[in-house]
Amino acid sequence: MRIGIGYDVHRLIEGRKLVLGGVVIPFEKGLLGHSDADVLVHAVCDALLGAAGLGDIGMHFPDTDPEYKDISSIKILDKTYELVNSKNFKIANIDSTIFADAPKLLSYKEAMEKNIARSIEIEPECVNVKATTFEGLGMIGKGEGIGAMCIVLIQSRKKTNT
Ligand code: MG
Repeated sequence: MRIGIGYDVHRLIEGRKLVLGGVVIPFEKGLLGHSDADVLVHAVCDALLGAAGLGDIGMHFPDTDPEYKDISSIKILDKTYELVNSKNFKIANIDSTIFADAPKLLSYKEAMEKNIARSIEIEPECVNVKATTFEGLGMIGKGEGIGAMCIVLIQSRKKTNT
């Protein structure tokens, strides 16, 4: 079994849609980025790539590549899963936390879990999304950005226990 960790932050600006875990969330601002800037899904991708020893999201999906301009990050996760799958790993479970003082995310977490689970072909019960605030402190507390952290466990599909 192998574990991986992913972390990401994006800046909140006006005039962008807020997309977290593939869910469009009504809010006055959205995240700035080359893709849809889905910070949660980016953290999941980095955790998966890290667990599989496959580098990071910037290496595979560079923000200079026009192919990824404004793309749904769920599509990046689909491709990340293909990479992990091609190395003969299956995903055991995912745990994640979003850092945001606003908006409130509780009512969207189940939809996010389902979107992520569908993309990586595991049961929604094996994907957990949490959210916490920075209590007004720092860049996230002041609403300048949203962050996310993710940890994953993967297992080889081969019979050995590695
Ligand atoms: Mg990112």
